[in-house]
Amino acid sequence: MFKHGVFPTNKFYPNVIRKESIMTCQQQHRYDPDFESLPDDQSQFNGRHKCAGCAYDQGYSLGLSKSQSINIDFAALPNSQAGTVRHRSVQAAFAKGYLDGVLASY
Ligand SMILES: [Zn+2]
Repeated sequence: MFKHGVFPTNKFYPNVIRKESIMTCQQQHRYDPDFESLPDDQSQFNGRHKCAGCAYDQGYSLGLSKSQSINIDFAALPNSQAGTVRHRSVQAAFAKGYLDGVLASY
């Protein structure tokens, strides 16, 4: 399953520097087979086309800091056009990342 360190914390945030990469995820986690275990989700308003890998990273960062208020920032998530994360549940990826982050903080 998801291993601590596979998706370094804040890996996503440096992408803010390059605006185009925020629109479409170019990270290798798009092809991580771990994401195949996430449920499919193609509902239109549920984060469809958003990168579940980046949602995982976002949740992981919040978990690692034991954030008391968690919120999926859909606007900050890039789209995903390829790989195993396409059409995966962003909510499930985020929640899994949060849990893994909390566990990693101990
Ligand atoms: Zn991504």
